[in-house]
Amino acid sequence: MKIGIVGCAGRMGRMLCKEVMAGDGLELVGGTEYDGSEFIGADISELSGLHPAGPMVTTDTAALFAASDAVIDFTLPEATTHHAELAGEHGTAFVVGTTGLSSPQQATIEAAARSVAVVQAANFSIGVNLLLGLTEQTAGVLGADNDIEILEMHHRHKVDAPSGTALALGRAAASGRGVNLDDVSDRVRDGHTGARKDGDIGFATLRGGDVVGDHSVIFAAEGERIELTHKASSRSIFANGAVRAARWCEGKAPGLYAMRDVLGFK
Ligand code: NAD
Repeated sequence: MKIGIVGCAGRMGRMLCKEVMAGDGLELVGGTEYDGSEFIGADISELSGLHPAGPMVTTDTAALFAASDAVIDFTLPEATTHHAELAGEHGTAFVVGTTGLSSPQQATIEAAARSVAVVQAANFSIGVNLLLGLTEQTAGVLGADNDIEILEMHHRHKVDAPSGTALALGRAAASGRGVNLDDVSDRVRDGHTGARKDGDIGFATLRGGDVVGDHSVIFAAEGERIELTHKASSRSIFANGAVRAARWCEGKAPGLYAMRDVLGFK
């Protein structure tokens, strides 16, 4: 399968190129950067920490889409919008990791998905997506007499809390219970808070050091407790999941898919 990487000199782009070059049955067709980037003409293998062996970084995005079975995009929203249009024009499967898309930008992804398979995820980690599926299933099986608490820890530089993934876990737990997270979310506890309200989904946040991302979902009942935990130690997990998504696209009908489709969670 032929894979192209747009934004190939970025932090994720380099990891994606390395992952594709190491993948059985995968060929890295090429990679692009924006016009004016200092990396145009650079050797992609070398950028990815391997011996120089090409291909070279170009600006010819249309040629990359024409030559690829699937293109993976972890760039910027404005660039992703243009890439989505090219995916539709060339019939190239498209894997989107770029976050922060506005509604009109998201609409271009949905337009492309009418003519090609598109996989989009805010978190491509296979482990996190498995945790999301398990959380929804467990919440559905256990029912409301289990108190659900979500605990996350990230490095000291993270500026938002709780993490987007913690909130996604909260939504998964709420969906398993058939409720809306906004109606049951308890995000701040401080001082004399009173007893825990039945059915609440609580959040707790820790910050420190260089933690890439730890998430636990705790189901606590009278007499027993279940804890589902994922710990990330490298951003390579996102590249690994995105490449798995690109492989999965082969032969798939047009549509906008999520990692839960790739992993077979329904
Ligand atoms: P980065 O800034 O290191 O890399 C982005 C790259 O895209 C840069 O090299 C930039 O020059 C390039 N680029 C910009 N415009 C371009 C264009 N028109 N054509 C080609 N290349 C272009 O950022 P990053 O840390 O690699 O993250 C990139 C995106 O991926 C962000 O939106 C981030 O939030 C997201 N991300 C998503 C996941 C996930 O699992 N979905 C994981 C990590 C990061």
